[in-house]
Amino acid sequence: MTKDAEKKDNKAQQYGVTPQSVDFNDWYNEVVKKADLADNSPVAGAMVVRPYGSALWENIQRWLDDRFKASDHESLIFPTLIPMGFIMKEADHVEGFAPELFTVNKIGTEELAEPYVMRPTSETIIGHMWAGWLNSYRDLPFLHYQWGSVFRAELRTKAFLRTSEFYWHEGHTAHAAEDEALAEVRMILDLYHEFCRDVLALPVVRGEKTATERFAGAVSTFSIEGMMRDGKALQSGTSHYLGQNFSRAFDVKFQTREQKEDYAHTTSWAISSRIIGAIIMTHGDDFGLIMPPRIAPVQVVIIPVGRKDNFSEMVAEGEKLAAELRAGGVRVRVDKRDGVTNGFKYNDWELKGVPVRIELGPRDLESGVVVVKNRNSDEKETLPRAEAVSGLAARLDAIHDWLYARAANFMLEHTTEVDDYETFKQKLEEGHWVRAYHCGDAACEKQIKEDTKATTRNVPLDDAEFFNERGEGQCARCGQPGAYGKRVIFGRQY
Ligand SMILES: [Zn+2]
Repeated sequence: MTKDAEKKDNKAQQYGVTPQSVDFNDWYNEVVKKADLADNSPVAGAMVVRPYGSALWENIQRWLDDRFKASDHESLIFPTLIPMGFIMKEADHVEGFAPELFTVNKIGTEELAEPYVMRPTSETIIGHMWAGWLNSYRDLPFLHYQWGSVFRAELRTKAFLRTSEFYWHEGHTAHAAEDEALAEVRMILDLYHEFCRDVLALPVVRGEKTATERFAGAVSTFSIEGMMRDGKALQSGTSHYLGQNFSRAFDVKFQTREQKEDYAHTTSWAISSRIIGAIIMTHGDDFGLIMPPRIAPVQVVIIPVGRKDNFSEMVAEGEKLAAELRAGGVRVRVDKRDGVTNGFKYNDWELKGVPVRIELGPRDLESGVVVVKNRNSDEKETLPRAEAVSGLAARLDAIHDWLYARAANFMLEHTTEVDDYETFKQKLEEGHWVRAYHCGDAACEKQIKEDTKATTRNVPLDDAEFFNERGEGQCARCGQPGAYGKRVIFGRQY
């Protein structure tokens, strides 16, 4: 069957998206558009985040922001433009970012003697300002972060995953001692992990990046990596130890307790709007999105299913139920659209991934019941109206647990321990992650990337939930002794 014929043939097509198994890429793009998360914009490479996507991003921001503040971090706001010369000061940094920079050469008709760049990240300008703010060890630590957007030119774009302008927080901290900076890097990595596991229902692997995959200018980079439903990896958050590289470049020094001069040890960290791509591609199915309940913009949708003569009455009943749920802290919407079939509404909210749907019909209401359906199940349940309210928190938790378990099982089933290069290549081709020993040599890593399009994702930490066993073995490609005391995760990535 041709791809088009297969699409037509598939029953899921009546709900409006290409099934994942037919074309994962089409599925993704259609879900993003039809669920009203984002749209293409007239600016090449940039997206417009629509209200449903924006509400999701706001929920993400709110949770993280509360936790940053609770751990004594302070937000600040830096300019979007950075003097070009700043980017040039840290050698690895400029090499890493130069090809992606947007440059501002002109203001009005006036050519600028020193151009600006649109910030690709803000280590440089923050370092510059810190140099002026920092005198003594008593001023430290600086625990700063800002929310905003950054600019990195992309040729091939994909909503949320790869856009020339994207949204994030960037954390920047400065410390008097290396161990304090490393503790910060680790604390943030663990916070990101907790956020993914407990709020987004995303299983992720905490680990350290190999030298090849480090952030430009970092001493060490840690990441959380998740597996999407096509077997590709998505780096979902990063936390970097920058050593004294940036503080030397920007003269961020201070007087120590012993009256000596030293450079600050700095960190930076981020989760970006890419995480929305991870939510879509980890939890979605052939009917569209499945929103993890704890972050979902709409947790419950109420559909009044009256006929013409009693529709407005059912809407009023829906509003009453919604008010009760709202009082319990539930994010709820009543679908009041008139002249739209119930079937259309069901499909629409399924596509948007709303975790729980409650149908309110006149006959049910007379007998004091409502019909409840979870997004992750085909079953409808008839429940006493009161139970639909009191049981809702547990229902949302159960959907969260179901999503996490499904994603974790998928990741485990699509990850293979491999010791020889033929199987290594074959498993990657089948859409698996491969766990193999690696010699740690950059040239060997590069050759693997050329042969397979896969890169090292990370070396899992000893206390990572998944894949953390220590062991010794030979590099799966070149046979040299393994360098990390454990297997490294390789995968193709977004
Ligand atoms: Zn090797």
